[in-house]
Amino acid sequence: MPTCPRCTGPLPNTLTRSRTTTARNLPICPPCASHEAARDVAGHAPIPPNEWPIPHH
Ligand SMILES: [Zn+2]
Repeated sequence: MPTCPRCTGPLPNTLTRSRTTTARNLPICPPCASHEAARDVAGHAPIPPNEWPIPHH
């Protein structure tokens, strides 16, 4: 199974193109996508890919 570049967790093969960061068109796992969406709602910028991998949330 591929690895999520954001959290180094498992990246499901069923991932769709919509499950990407807003910063770049990179595939990330569903938990990371949810985390980024929550940050966006809270008014925080997405964590930039050059700060990946981040500790699991
Ligand atoms: Zn992830």
